[in-house]
Amino acid sequence: SEPSGPLPIRRLQESVINRIAAGEIIHRPAAALKELIENSLDAESTSIKITVKDGGVKLLQIQDNGCGIRKTDLPILAERFTTSKISTFSDLSKLTTYGFRGEALASMSFVAHLSVVTKTKEDTLCLESLLRRRSSRNDGTTITIENLFYNTPTRLGALRGASEEYARILDVVQKYAIHNPHVAFSCKKAGSASPDVSTPSGSDTKTAIRMIYGQTIVKDLLHSKILPTDSEADSEAGENDDSPLWSAEAFFTNANYQAKKTVLLLFINHRLVESSRIKKALEGIYVGVLPKGTSPFMYLSLQIDPQSIDVNVHPTKREVRFLNEDEIIERLANSMQGTLLNQSQSRVYEYQT
Ligand code: ADP
Ligand code: MG
Repeated sequence: SEPSGPLPIRRLQESVINRIAAGEIIHRPAAALKELIENSLDAESTSIKITVKDGGVKLLQIQDNGCGIRKTDLPILAERFTTSKISTFSDLSKLTTYGFRGEALASMSFVAHLSVVTKTKEDTLCLESLLRRRSSRNDGTTITIENLFYNTPTRLGALRGASEEYARILDVVQKYAIHNPHVAFSCKKAGSASPDVSTPSGSDTKTAIRMIYGQTIVKDLLHSKILPTDSEADSEAGENDDSPLWSAEAFFTNANYQAKKTVLLLFINHRLVESSRIKKALEGIYVGVLPKGTSPFMYLSLQIDPQSIDVNVHPTKREVRFLNEDEIIERLANSMQGTLLNQSQSRVYEYQT
């Protein structure tokens, strides 16, 4: 047939744009839940209760006891780029919250049915989205997402079965529960009496690891706090006026613990992220310590100056980049290796005496 020449360029309809953009952020129920948990943490909640139906597709509900949302803010809550967390671009370099783009709730509202019930301390009645009033309820916010991807069949089709999606949801909840032991987390299937994750508030990291991953891990767990140089690690807190450029805390299993697959919980500036480079370096310290084909459990929380980190490289904020990555990773691995080898040597020594 005759070449027809260029097709006209058209402006996409707002509703189409929104649905496409939403798909980049919310690609599966666990991704939606991560955003919701982060919002609850940003709201300074000490209790977060999650209920799930059909792997999160039918229902994903999160109830927190945080600061709540003001009545006047409800009308724009689910609009794109509306946030209470930053106001200028430079605020990004001193970010202390998970959120900053004001896109998560909007995205969910474009690909699911979203409803909100919320109450601030000052409110006497709680408010439901669309400003319907309901009788008294606890302070905090409940967000309900129903029928995820009802209008995006390709997304829906790309999901695994309900049990795998639920497993991913549990994985997210477990990791946040360990990183936030001061917050009580629970996650259960709708209609089920017993939660699949349940942690108390005011706990500590080790207790949280035990409650979620079990006693076997905890009895073989090493703990390190790592700073850029040994001298900083040695100097008493307060002695040194310059705060270090970064710091890290790690809980990781010793040679007695042998799992089939590495479990790495990696938090950088409190964000759950993935880094194949860090994973590889940390797995490396177990070479020669663990038998071939076995793997450790590791939880690493790294805190870097917000100015040297870019959290905005990925729509799901899953990947982060930071300055001096190689140097920091090397220092982390060396320090953890030192602790690991020390421990296994003292064990050998105990056997000998
Ligand atoms: P962001 O977190 O980037 O600001 P979101 O779309 O996730 O964007 O949320 C928009 C706004 O809604 C937040 O800035 C916050 O003010 C409010 N919000 C969302 N969830 C909660 C919650 N659980 N408790 C209190 N406020 C919330
Ligand atoms: Mg958010």
